[in-house]
Amino acid sequence: MSKNPWDRSPVEVLRAGPGFRLESFDPSATPGWSDDKDDGTERMRDQGERLADLQEMLFAEGRSGGTRSVLLVLQGMDTAGKGGILRHVVGMVDPQGVDHASFGKPTDEELAHHYLWRIRRALPQPGRLGVFDRSHYEDVLVVRVEELVPPDVWGARYDEINAFEAELVGAGTAIVKVALMVSLEEQKARLMERLERPDKHWKYNPADLAARAKWPAYRSAYQAMLDHTSTEIAPWFVVPADHKWYARLAVTELLLDAFERLGLRWPAPTYDVEAEKHRLQAT
Ligand code: AMP
Ligand code: MG
Repeated sequence: MSKNPWDRSPVEVLRAGPGFRLESFDPSATPGWSDDKDDGTERMRDQGERLADLQEMLFAEGRSGGTRSVLLVLQGMDTAGKGGILRHVVGMVDPQGVDHASFGKPTDEELAHHYLWRIRRALPQPGRLGVFDRSHYEDVLVVRVEELVPPDVWGARYDEINAFEAELVGAGTAIVKVALMVSLEEQKARLMERLERPDKHWKYNPADLAARAKWPAYRSAYQAMLDHTSTEIAPWFVVPADHKWYARLAVTELLLDAFERLGLRWPAPTYDVEAEKHRLQAT
């Protein structure tokens, strides 16, 4: 592979650290990447192959008694490109190693339980890459904006979520949290496309305009989420998503970084390889 074309590591440049302000965030930027789209797409393919190899190693580890896993949490407003990340980024790895879950409006059964109940049931099995299309963070986003529970209830959830994630990390799950940020203008164009193309009508929901109308309230809720839950063990990465190719490249790199940190190796065989070769020869 050619030299690393990033001017700055995406892990550094996209991480929501203290003082991060969504207000001054540009969803149409491509931070850290000064090459063009074609180079970005090429880089993503190369990194995708590496990602697929590491994911297979994690899968092998899980089959050999390992307990580790990786969890990708995707948040973003409608049209931010969560589905595209699934298809184009997660789609680069072997689907048998992926545990995918999407979280919509809670069912009656889910509402009868604690909000983390449905999340716990969907956590990745050992050796798997889990992908959450929306997540427990909806319980401090839409729930806060729509006032579905009183402020003291959602207000207590930030600490609770941090404790929950600390428990997961302690049990061997690396968490990669990605907030995809699309601009108001780009969202309008993407929603209009959904209305203009019969093959995209199914993606449109008249209710999406209600959320769009509350953009400032959502921005405050996202800001509070980043302020309270971008922790050392499970930081948030805020990814500009007006350019789909950039967002997909960036998430590929963030995932790959998480896999590389695991220091994976192929499991050692539990049998004598040479002896097995001889046995096989003899058949
Ligand atoms: P979509 O991802 O476009 O299929 O939409 C799913 C919808 O479910 C979004 O409008 C979310 O805001 C909503 N949703 C997800 N989780 C919750 C939750 N915990 N409470 C209320 N609404 C939710
Ligand atoms: Mg939607």
